[in-house]
Amino acid sequence: KLSKRLQAVADLTQPWRRIADIGSDHAHLPLYLREQNKIDFAVCGEVIPGPYEIAAAHVKNSAYSADLVVRLADGLQAIQQDDQVECAVIAGMGGMLITQILERGHQELSWLKGLVLQPNQNVDVVRKWLAEHNWQITAENLVFDEGHYYQMMAAQPSKTPTTYTDLQLLMGPAMLQMPAVPADFTHYWQFKLTQKQAILQQLQNASEPPADKISQMAKEVDLIKEGLNATN
Ligand code: SAM
Repeated sequence: KLSKRLQAVADLTQPWRRIADIGSDHAHLPLYLREQNKIDFAVCGEVIPGPYEIAAAHVKNSAYSADLVVRLADGLQAIQQDDQVECAVIAGMGGMLITQILERGHQELSWLKGLVLQPNQNVDVVRKWLAEHNWQITAENLVFDEGHYYQMMAAQPSKTPTTYTDLQLLMGPAMLQMPAVPADFTHYWQFKLTQKQAILQQLQNASEPPADKISQMAKEVDLIKEGLNATN
């Protein structure tokens, strides 16, 4: 059984049957998806020898060693054209690292029909990268798991670059379009609103209030309010 976070990531890999899990750690996600018959084939990529060896051992000891390939490789270089991988998953890393991996995988990206990304931080940076590189966000989710909130997204190639508004970059274009957002989404943004309002108050009460920081924080507070209003 997967964690709530990885389960939500797994759900976003549908309908793709040939995937690559980049930064696979112990290969939990591909093993689960294959066991559930949700995929036919997966590449499990790991750049660090320790996790790579554990992933390789897990796959070898499973019933699916014919369908799962474990490779020691940096980022999207784990994928070969012959693999006919449709979708790459990059989960559980910072948004900066995810965009660096995407940035260095131009050729491999051209073979893909889908991306599933779960940045632990800097989610807006990842959304912006996708928009600027002709990837359109098609589905998103936000879940609370073991004391943390996680945002994740699926994207597909588009013919033209997209421009997202500040609100879309912050909360996610697909989240904002949901007929009903999940309760975890509302809880997360209410929590962020309270946090940022407290910071704003502190800044305003300072002996020398920093004008640029105040206007930045006030802008963020307004955006979150706007997003909460739009989804309630
Ligand atoms: N994807 C799994 C998940 O979401 O539970 C594992 C996340 S784990 C925190 C991040 C993994 O990414 C680590 O095992 C790390 O070695 C791997 N990693 C980091 N940079 C990488 C890169 N450039 N290429 C491949 N794997 C990488």
